[in-house]
Amino acid sequence: MRFRILLAAMASLPCVYAVFRLFLMEKKRQEPLPEEVADVFTKERWNTFVAYKKELKAPFLLSQLLAFLVDLFVILSPFYAWMERLANGNPYGTVAITAVVLMAVSFLVGLPVSYYRIFTIETKYCLNHRTKQKFFKDEITEFVTGTVLNTALYLLLAFILLHLPAWTNQFQIPLYKAVLIMAGITAVIVAFLFLASYISWLLLRVQYKFTPLQEGELKQDILKLLKGSRKKVRRIEVYNESAKSTSKNAFVLKLPFFRSIGIADNFLAENSHRELLAVLAHEAGHLKHKPSFWNILNYCFFGALFCLLVAALVHGAVLAQWEQALEGIFGLTVCNAVLTFAVISWLTQPLLFVISAYRNTISRMEEAEADRNAVKEGYGEELIQTFKQVSSDELVDVNPPELVEFLEYDHPGMTTRIRQIHHAMQA
Ligand SMILES: [Zn+2]
Repeated sequence: MRFRILLAAMASLPCVYAVFRLFLMEKKRQEPLPEEVADVFTKERWNTFVAYKKELKAPFLLSQLLAFLVDLFVILSPFYAWMERLANGNPYGTVAITAVVLMAVSFLVGLPVSYYRIFTIETKYCLNHRTKQKFFKDEITEFVTGTVLNTALYLLLAFILLHLPAWTNQFQIPLYKAVLIMAGITAVIVAFLFLASYISWLLLRVQYKFTPLQEGELKQDILKLLKGSRKKVRRIEVYNESAKSTSKNAFVLKLPFFRSIGIADNFLAENSHRELLAVLAHEAGHLKHKPSFWNILNYCFFGALFCLLVAALVHGAVLAQWEQALEGIFGLTVCNAVLTFAVISWLTQPLLFVISAYRNTISRMEEAEADRNAVKEGYGEELIQTFKQVSSDELVDVNPPELVEFLEYDHPGMTTRIRQIHHAMQA
């Protein structure tokens, strides 16, 4: 029981952080805006922004709390033993049922909150264009694909866990064999993730309508910006974001073997070509990015994880004991991969948080680099104008607390970002 209480305490951390974060955000919002972003909102729009954020508070806290209560329930109740009984003790059946039930619960718990957020709050502030029918269609498609992929991944992991003792001669193997086995497992998982990224790409094409960008001056200008890209851009397309929201966006979709540019129709309809080119010059900056020391260090994390797993394989008896202890604590007779990985993720949560802060920091550096590319192409002023416009239209928090920006933002906050662009323009 003590172990379960430890898990419950770890699972409560995101909730605690969410409350702390909200407190920081509200405190920061009372300060006057820095000069870089002082003209983003009109007085009236600022009041709308504050009111909007205030209304979002309750659904945000509620969704955090509900997610925690679900965790708490599965940790403290005999949930995993029930799932095993439902599957008659079949290890794959148990994994599949657990994964599907957990996905369904989190879907059903999250659905009313997002429904309320979108159709009550966002509609009130004219940020939503989605019909209810479209909302349910998207949510259900996402749920079904997510559940299928998630369950397939867990079944794959369960297969690996169940066969490890046999593959490793009851964990009595030389080091080189452990490396080979881990390399094989890694290859299979990477192949699976490749497949999953293609499937989510296909899903995006079901949710939106993509049409190739018309031939003409704009397309020629975009192609000019893309010269010198390290990855090939195979398509430049417009998608119907207007069917969903007022959001204006242009992005590069990364797939294992090619890149594809998507431009929201809202953007094309309401902004000048120079503004769109400013954003695409930023995207082109990403495509020209060469791996830096920080990217390589990031790969080193995976390298370290790999070594750790090889070591665990060589000392497999420890692994087997831990698995058995887990089964004992949760009253199970077979290994449940969903539980194993849930426990690992609860316990390593603080470490994962640190790693994600590190990756966000690298990502912000790359965003700044891409912004500098847009400045270099001569679109600095348009980039700033576009950011200000989007921030006002979408009620973006332009001046987030430094700590929140540092920990969570994968793009620089607007204040930092505009400051950096000004800096690059003066250089
Ligand atoms: Zn970017």
